[in-house]
Amino acid sequence: MTQLLIVGPPGAGKGTQASRIAERFGIPTISTGDIFRSNIRDRTELGQQVTAILDAGDYVPDTLTNDLVQDRLEQADAQEGYLLDGYPRTEGQVAFLDGLNERRGRGIDAVVRLVADHDEVIRRLRIRSEEQGRSDDTDGAMRHRLEVYERETEPILAAYAGRGVVVEIDGLGEIDEVTERILSALSERGVVAR
Ligand code: ADP
Repeated sequence: MTQLLIVGPPGAGKGTQASRIAERFGIPTISTGDIFRSNIRDRTELGQQVTAILDAGDYVPDTLTNDLVQDRLEQADAQEGYLLDGYPRTEGQVAFLDGLNERRGRGIDAVVRLVADHDEVIRRLRIRSEEQGRSDDTDGAMRHRLEVYERETEPILAAYAGRGVVVEIDGLGEIDEVTERILSALSERGVVAR
């Protein structure tokens, strides 16, 4: 069983790396952003509740996000572990996940922190907005998401750093290169795929 988190600013390449790492470990990637977007696409009740929040680049309230993650982690494929992409992002979410893990009888093995320079992140988000047309990749929402990340989410990394589980990875470079960096940093910590 392997329980991993990946954290980084919008545009750092979290989603791309998350699916590669999860595949290597044989665990599901759980991306709260993807789950919200698919609910919006399918016009579910949750989707309707969060559309305006995502478009503005704000965080969805913890109560909604925590419930969603709890349900997802109860599913069969998550019993062997998980890689959470984009969760937890607030102190309340960290505490909630601690509670879930306590019941699972296992803590987080590692937190992969993807580091990318502010200007590079803006450049990547611009390219993504042209390629994918995500409705929250407008200039204003992009900048706002970065601000919210720096204000709300960077501080929670300190809590995990205090537990000695953070591996810091330079997110700049070729996609394959970054994946190799992550895998070797994890294996140095004894976190290896079986
Ligand atoms: P990015 O990291 O590029 O902003 P994500 O797909 O991770 O993209 O998240 C997109 C949006 O989904 C966020 O701006 C936020 O509105 C919402 N969201 C995703 N995860 C969370 C979370 N853990 N807590 C609150 N809101 C979230």
